[in-house]
Amino acid sequence: MRSVSIFGATGSVGLSTIDLIRRDPEAYRVVALTGNSDVEGLAKIAREVRAEIAVIADPSCFDALKAALEGSGVEATAGEGALIEAAARGADWTMASIVGCAGLKPTMAAIQAGKAVALANKESLVSAGSLMMDAVAASGATLLPVDSEHNAIFQCLAGSNLGDVATIILTASGGPFRTRSRAEMQDITPQQAVAHPNWSMGAKISVDSATMMNKGLELIEAAHLFPVGLERIDILVHPQSVIHSMVEYRDCSTLAQLGSPDMRIPIAHALAWPQRIATPCKPLNLAEIGRLDFEAPDVERFPALRLARAAAGEGGAAPAILNAANEVAVAAFLGGRIGFLDIAAIVEEVLNRYSAPVPSAIDDVLAADARAREEARLVMERLTV
Ligand code: NAD
Ligand code: MG
Repeated sequence: MRSVSIFGATGSVGLSTIDLIRRDPEAYRVVALTGNSDVEGLAKIAREVRAEIAVIADPSCFDALKAALEGSGVEATAGEGALIEAAARGADWTMASIVGCAGLKPTMAAIQAGKAVALANKESLVSAGSLMMDAVAASGATLLPVDSEHNAIFQCLAGSNLGDVATIILTASGGPFRTRSRAEMQDITPQQAVAHPNWSMGAKISVDSATMMNKGLELIEAAHLFPVGLERIDILVHPQSVIHSMVEYRDCSTLAQLGSPDMRIPIAHALAWPQRIATPCKPLNLAEIGRLDFEAPDVERFPALRLARAAAGEGGAAPAILNAANEVAVAAFLGGRIGFLDIAAIVEEVLNRYSAPVPSAIDDVLAADARAREEARLVMERLTV
């Protein structure tokens, strides 16, 4: 029996992970489950899988969680300190699926515990970058990529020498507005932006997919996970989301990983690694799909791609600033306060206005993140008057 913890258990990736675990209750002992403010959702799954502890990030939800878990035997805790403490318990396998840089400290605590960490929380790696990879090396943790593209690359690399890699090809669906002009993107509503053509995901990553900032963040993520050099990582638009990414080797042999667009497939890979487990997912029927299409990404219509590549090239605190400004802008867009095209414009403006020294500790990353959020709010104020 393996012990598992799920950070961000109430979200899209978290619930997909629960779905796999509940199918084989003999195989897993659940240590910690966490959520932000969804007390009912957290209590329900914590009771069902008999978690040892349930942590709600919002401290004002503590009494409600305690009441909801009354008599269940599940311990209730709350607040960021409790999240970090739960991560430090070091389950054999931890899913890091909190959304945003809010996941950075718990993800770091799980890494420092030195066990297996399945990483969905890309914003934490984008922001902390080499500090996080250094922590992985220092603790001996096994970092298993769950983002479907990175999981695909991990599978295509299969332990090969990175020196033999010619190019990593990150595929991108292109999102719901792949074929729209800038003018046609002007009045896009949050509802339209979160309706992804292939994947069912949380609101933030769905908007990131629509702006293609998601692919920009994934470029930075890939550069840290698979350090082949930024110039060796290409983005290829592939609207069907069947090929989840590819690795071209120097002998001109290219390996791809394919599958239905269902996050339970990469999650199951990370959960069972280095073995395999059965999933309830739909097997790929290529005859039914019929064709696979590819096109080059358009950085004019999707400036987030250009901004992310530039921030990745600059390194230091730039990716953390890019990410923080994007988080603020996406939240404002979802709240109806700014337009769709304003998201990348705000990120660009913040990157122009603010730079920070190369972070040498996680607190430096969090300071740059906080300042970038403040700058983003100032830029937005100017934009909306
Ligand atoms: P989601 O919004 O559905 O879930 C996010 C989870 O984080 C929830 O459990 C929520 O309660 C928790 N959370 C939110 N804010 C928090 C805070 N301030 N403190 C603590 N917990 C907080 O998001 P998701 O779609 O499941 O995505 C989670 C992460 O996985 C993101 O980083 C996303 O980029 C990445 N990811 C998601 C998918 C997908 O298919 N959904 C695919 C690849 C990568
Ligand atoms: Mg992805």
